[in-house]
Amino acid sequence: MSSLSWSNTRITVLEYCQKKYFFSYYGYALKSIDEHLWQLWSTLRQLKSLDMRMGEMTHKILSLYLHMLKKHGEVDIDRLKQDIKKDMEQIFSLSEKRDYSIYNKDLHFWLSEHFYEENTEGKLEETIQKVWKNLDAFIASQRHQKVKNWFTTAHHIYIESPGKPNFALMKVDVEKIPWLEHISVMAAPDFGAMFGEKWYLILDWKSGKEDIQTSGITDQLKVYGLKVLLKQWTQDIGDRTIHMDEIYLPWMHSKWWTLTQEDINNIIEKIIQDIEYQKQFIVDQDPIQNIPLSHQAFKRTSSEKKCISCTFRKVCTLLKDFE
Ligand code: SF4
Repeated sequence: MSSLSWSNTRITVLEYCQKKYFFSYYGYALKSIDEHLWQLWSTLRQLKSLDMRMGEMTHKILSLYLHMLKKHGEVDIDRLKQDIKKDMEQIFSLSEKRDYSIYNKDLHFWLSEHFYEENTEGKLEETIQKVWKNLDAFIASQRHQKVKNWFTTAHHIYIESPGKPNFALMKVDVEKIPWLEHISVMAAPDFGAMFGEKWYLILDWKSGKEDIQTSGITDQLKVYGLKVLLKQWTQDIGDRTIHMDEIYLPWMHSKWWTLTQEDINNIIEKIIQDIEYQKQFIVDQDPIQNIPLSHQAFKRTSSEKKCISCTFRKVCTLLKDFE
């Protein structure tokens, strides 16, 4: 078992539902309770909803496009779209067969909708169109021209490669921060550009609904900024400028911020607090061993609305027999 980790997704899941957090990060513990439950969980953890897959494929097509553009200066867009379409069609038809016995880690099974036998008629074509539309929106935007310019003016460019996580690159070097010595923090932006030693630009694509409630910079973006600083062995922004841009597709609506020292201090404090909360669910609160408490210590959400679309709802119901 690896040591306790923090990510924006992880703490969001914990705040959403403790039981879902158990299934997402400690579900392997079901093996000692019941073999059948554990097998069911092993299948369910591989599944995602069609909406989530659409987000993943949007990130993938944008990443492939940007990698090709950087390398060759131009991209055969029709070919790229057709490759993505073929990829999605192949996996969708595999997922439809619902034969979970042949799972391997390179062969993602796609959809929780298939597992729960929901109607997916016409949904694949709709999803492909959404992914294509997101790419088209980016290419037609002014942002596209700016990114092209950055390829020639920036000293360093980072483009994430979704589906091929590089854990060494994703790691945020928090070892030197008191209280976080044994904690793994993972974060990787979608796109980053560095101009000289002091000027950074970070882009993050969003393909879901825009959150109009929150107006400030998100924790996710703050962590990206912290990561940039820690790479230079400091937590002080000093005279550096770190510019953050959150872009909502397909509208290309952008929210942007320039990171402040207060943002950095806040996110360090937030991670420390979150870790203290996460420790309440592990034996002896020991982040190195990171052994989960009994599944009964993880409470279910009282919101039935959250359960309707939860991937783990079947195993969650069956687990009640063991409580
Ligand atoms: S089905 Fe509901 S209670 Fe169970 S894990 Fe999912 S969200 Fe939590």
